[in-house]
Amino acid sequence: MAEDIFDKIIEGKIPSYKVYEDDDVLAFLDISQATPGHTLLVSKKHIDNIYDYDDESAKKVLTKIPIIARAIRKSNPKIIGLNILNNNGQAAGQSVIHTHWHFIPRYQDDKLDFPPTVDNSDKYDEEKYRKIAESIKKQF
Ligand code: AMP
Repeated sequence: MAEDIFDKIIEGKIPSYKVYEDDDVLAFLDISQATPGHTLLVSKKHIDNIYDYDDESAKKVLTKIPIIARAIRKSNPKIIGLNILNNNGQAAGQSVIHTHWHFIPRYQDDKLDFPPTVDNSDKYDEEKYRKIAESIKKQF
């Protein structure tokens, strides 16, 4: 199977702003920050989507969801809500066919159109990504 972009990030072939890593998952900032702190949780084992999880993989990956959520919440007192989104299939907006969860922090009056459709990657520089990733990373 050809490598997708998340396989390359997991292997370190493409840089990312990592916030959490263990044997089974990697969490890093989404390049398009729907809101500041938008994080992706990705299974290291290649699984296309939710339909393909067996019990063991589900335990290894899905149990990390609340752990990532709590760290994001703790990273910034302005975070007052969190949307967790898992797209399955192109019709549902899955553009990378490698199972992942979006954690999208919510702020007062953030005016986020949900689910997010706008690409914000041109609004962030390295310093901005690094600061956000550091603020989450130190909560684990
Ligand atoms: P989805 O549309 O649910 O498949 O989400 C894929 C997400 O991956 C999108 O929100 C993209 O912004 C994000 N993405 C694509 N390439 C990268 C990358 N190199 N680093 C971080 N996030 C990425």
